[in-house]
Amino acid sequence: MKGVIIEKNGGTEVLQYKEDLTVPQPEEGKILVKNDYVGINYIDTYFRTGLYPAKMPYMLGREAEGIIVATGPNIAQDLKVGDRVVYLSEATYGEYTAAPAAKAIKIPSEIEPTIASASLLQGLTALTLIREAYHVEKGDWILVHAAAGGVGLWLCQLLAAVGAKTIGTASTQEKCDLAKKNGATVVINYSHEDVKSKVMEVTGGEGVKAVFDGVGKDTFDLSLDCLARKGTMASFGNASGAVPPLTIARLSAKNAKLLRPTLFNYISTREEFETYTQELFSFLIKDKLDARVHKIYDLKDVATAHEDLEGRKTTGKLLLKI
Ligand code: NDP
Repeated sequence: MKGVIIEKNGGTEVLQYKEDLTVPQPEEGKILVKNDYVGINYIDTYFRTGLYPAKMPYMLGREAEGIIVATGPNIAQDLKVGDRVVYLSEATYGEYTAAPAAKAIKIPSEIEPTIASASLLQGLTALTLIREAYHVEKGDWILVHAAAGGVGLWLCQLLAAVGAKTIGTASTQEKCDLAKKNGATVVINYSHEDVKSKVMEVTGGEGVKAVFDGVGKDTFDLSLDCLARKGTMASFGNASGAVPPLTIARLSAKNAKLLRPTLFNYISTREEFETYTQELFSFLIKDKLDARVHKIYDLKDVATAHEDLEGRKTTGKLLLKI
C-alpha cells in the first residue's frame, strides 16, 4: 500500500513516501479502514523531529477518515464493513490503518467527509480544553495564542458559542483578521504589539480567567503574566519548543492553576470519546461552526505540508488526500 514512514528523526527529508508497504491486519478490537483523508497535526512534527520518541520504522499520523473494509474480532461498537468513519489512531499516513474501533465513529450524513476529517482531533482538543482544563463560563475573558491555527480557530468559535470573550493572538494581520472573523472579541498581533498591556487594558486590569497556550516555550511566561488572580494556565503544546522546567512557587503570585493536558487523557473511555465527538458534530451541524481547511495536499507532498505548518504559513487544518 501507499504510505509515508520515517526511519530516523530529522527535518522533512526523513519523510519517505513508499508504494510497497504491507497492509496492516485488524487485530482484536480493531477495524481496517481504507483512508480517504488524513488530518495533519502539529504532533506529527514532534514525532518526526524526535521531540516525542517513536520506535523506528514509524508511520506518522493521529487521525483519518475513510471506509471500513474489514473488522477484527470482538468489536463492541456499532461499526461494520462499508461504514464511513472518522477516527483517532496511530499510523494514519497510509492507504490503510488498523484503528481501534473504540476511537472510531460513523460520520453523520449532514457532515462532509473532508469536514469530519478536518474537525476531529483539533475540534476535540478545543472542546475538552474549554470544558475540562478550565470550565469556561459565559462572560469570561480567555486568552488564546496562535488563534488562527488549527486548534486556535476551533477555540475562537467554541468560546464565542458558549458566550465567552476571547483575546486571540497571531503573528500577522491576516491571521488576526481570520481569528476575529471566527469569533475572537479582541485580536493582538504578537509580532509587534505588547500583549500584556493590551490584555490588562481590555480586562480592566484584572487579567484573563484562563490562557489556552499551544505555542509553548515562547509564550509561557507571557501567559502567566496575563492571568487573573486564581486564573488557569493550560499549556497544551510546543509549537515554538517545549516549555522548560519551572519552579512551582511561581504560581503563588496569583494562586494560579497550571495544567499540561493532552486530548487523549480526556477521551480515553468510549463514553468520553462518544460524548465529546457527538457534541462536536452538533456544533458543526446545529451551530454551523466552520472547520476551515487550509489546503489538501497529496500524500506524496507531505514534506511541503510539514514545512508550511512549521513555517507558520498555514491557518486552520491541513489534510492529506490518499
Ligand atoms: P497550528 O495550526 O496552531 O500551527 C501552529 C501555530 O503556532 C503556527 O501557525 C503559529 O501561529 C504558532 N507558532 C508560534 N510560534 C511558532 C514557532 N516558533 N514555530 C511554529 N509555529 C509557531 O497547529 P495545531 O493546531 O496542529 O496545534 C497547535 C498546538 O496545539 C500545537 O502546539 C500542538 O502540539 C497542540 N496540540 C495539543 C494537543 C493536546 O492534546 N495537548 C492536541 C492537539 C494540538 P502564529 O504564526 O500566529 O504565531
